[in-house]
Amino acid sequence: MESSVYAFVEDVRGEGAGRVLDRVLGYGCTGLTVAAAYHQARDVTPHGPARVTFRRDGVHFPPGDLFGRLVPPVQPWAKEDPLRTLRPLTRERGAALHAWGVFCHNTTLGLEHPDVTQENCFGDRAAPADLCPSHPDVRAYAVALARSLARYEPDAVVAESLHFGLFGHGYHHERSFAELGGLAEYALGLCFCAHCRRIDGADAARAEAVRLVEDALDGRPWPEADEPPAAIMEFSLARRRTVTTLVAEVAEAVADEGSRLIFIDLTGAAKGYADGLPTGGLAASEAWRIGVDPAAVGSVASGYAVLAYARDAARVAADLAAYRTALGPDRELRAVLRPGFPDTDSAGHLAEKVKAAAGFADAVDYYAYGLTPFHVLERI
Ligand SMILES: [Zn+2]
Ligand SMILES: [Zn+2]
Repeated sequence: MESSVYAFVEDVRGEGAGRVLDRVLGYGCTGLTVAAAYHQARDVTPHGPARVTFRRDGVHFPPGDLFGRLVPPVQPWAKEDPLRTLRPLTRERGAALHAWGVFCHNTTLGLEHPDVTQENCFGDRAAPADLCPSHPDVRAYAVALARSLARYEPDAVVAESLHFGLFGHGYHHERSFAELGGLAEYALGLCFCAHCRRIDGADAARAEAVRLVEDALDGRPWPEADEPPAAIMEFSLARRRTVTTLVAEVAEAVADEGSRLIFIDLTGAAKGYADGLPTGGLAASEAWRIGVDPAAVGSVASGYAVLAYARDAARVAADLAAYRTALGPDRELRAVLRPGFPDTDSAGHLAEKVKAAAGFADAVDYYAYGLTPFHVLERI
């Protein structure tokens, strides 16, 4: 079975591309998925050149002339062009190379161009990290980024955050001492920028979002329901088309350059990122929260990756089964697992989850090389 390990350019620079590749292939994996366009983070890196690694927004390659108004920030060592180095090294070893990019999530770009970020129901631009997928400049940026990655001739371009963002992660260092509850928090994360207001039902949804959030802020009791009120739900379903058409444009650009697009559906991470204990509905049935219709996106992307961030092997199986049903039998489905904390306790536990995933997925990938201690990576 095909199996790739997600890795950061910092990992590869620190240890050396050949050594990282040999280690990953030694685990029995078939390739590497390298973050060529990434976002801010501060990560504990157990075996990296630093024990704690600070990452910036930006691309790990010289941006060239494909970009229009939104030009990505560039990482300090981009001129070393790591993808260009990795391509022959992976080919020599018969390994796959996937070029991974974070698309609509970039605080540096958002602070520089607030008009392309998500605008909430009150008219605030308060999510600098979330570039709105409805904005034409963001769409042009996504296509240019995808095309840039595809030009390195990877076996696939892997797109993360190619969809709407959620309220909980619109910046870094969010605070709320008001208890919003799930529905109001969801409503406060919706974008109603000029472009999103053209989506069917936007006005009614916006009025309802304002009401929900104000009720929560004023301490009026809110209905505890899994689904938002009808007006917001209708708008949420309608805006999925924005994401599907964007993924289609990106997939076409990638195919044009001779590669193929794998779409990452972040819903599983939204549910299980912190503790590996997702609750409530299966990820596939809640993908609408980030504007994703798995069946429609699956029909335009050539592969579909699901973040199966759950401790329970039965939950992993159930999540993947639901995505398999949505995508149909022929579309490539990939499961991404974390081999250690906070999802997995032992090699046996990981094996159980791999088995559960492989019942429905065509590939199992692992997240992520530099974040995971070697003794845990060895479980792979
Ligand atoms: Zn972020
Ligand atoms: Zn918008």
